[in-house]
Amino acid sequence: MLTQQCGLCGEASDARLCERCMSLLPGLGPACARCAIPMRAPVDLCGECQRKPPTFDAALAALRYEPPADLLLQDFKFNQRLALGVVAAGQLKMMTAERKVDALIPIPLHRSRLRQRGFNQSLLLAQAVCGGRPVLHALARQRATAAQSGLDKDERRRNVRGAFAVVQHLPPRIALVDDVMTTGATLNEAAKICKAAGASWVEVWVVARRP
Ligand SMILES: [Zn+2]
Ligand SMILES: [Zn+2]
Repeated sequence: MLTQQCGLCGEASDARLCERCMSLLPGLGPACARCAIPMRAPVDLCGECQRKPPTFDAALAALRYEPPADLLLQDFKFNQRLALGVVAAGQLKMMTAERKVDALIPIPLHRSRLRQRGFNQSLLLAQAVCGGRPVLHALARQRATAAQSGLDKDERRRNVRGAFAVVQHLPPRIALVDDVMTTGATLNEAAKICKAAGASWVEVWVVARRP
C-alpha cells in the first residue's frame, strides 16, 4: 500500500525511503576498526591511527557521508525530518546489536543550539539504537562551541577542547552516539573526558563517517 512519500525523492513509497533511495545509501564498506575511516580492506589501525591513535577504542559507522546519506542526515537534523532519522538509525542498529557495552551516551548539544534546533539528533539516534540498553545523559556541554564545519582538523580539536563535562557516574563500557563523524575531534574530546571519569572502554557509534 503506497501511503507515504519517500523522504528523499518524494516518490510514492510504502516506506520512509523508497527502495531506490535505500539502495543508493552508501554502506561504509571496509574500514579502520579504530576510527572507521573507509579503507580498501579492513584494518585494525589505519596509518593515521598508527601515528596518533584516538582516545576512543573502536568506531562503528553504518554509512559513508556521501550522497544521498549526507542529504538524509542533513534533512533529519536541520529540517526536523525525524522519520529520516529513524531510517538512519535502522542502519546503525543492525551494526551495533551485538556490541557489548553497558550504556549509550549521546553527544549533547549546548542548550542554545538545542533551543534553536528543538531536539538533539544524537539523543534520538541513541534511543533508536539502544535495543534496551540504558541511554545516559552523562555528558553536558560546558560551553557553546562554534560550528565545526569549515574548520580544519587542528581547529576542530581546539574548538571542542574542554567543551564537555561528565555529570554522572559512568559504567565501564560505553558507546558515544552521534550522527556524523568527520575528523572525530568532537567524539575524541568526549572520549577523553569519559576515560578521565573512569570509563575503561569507549567506542563511538555514528550513522555516517566522512571518508
Ligand atoms: Zn526515494
Ligand atoms: Zn583509523
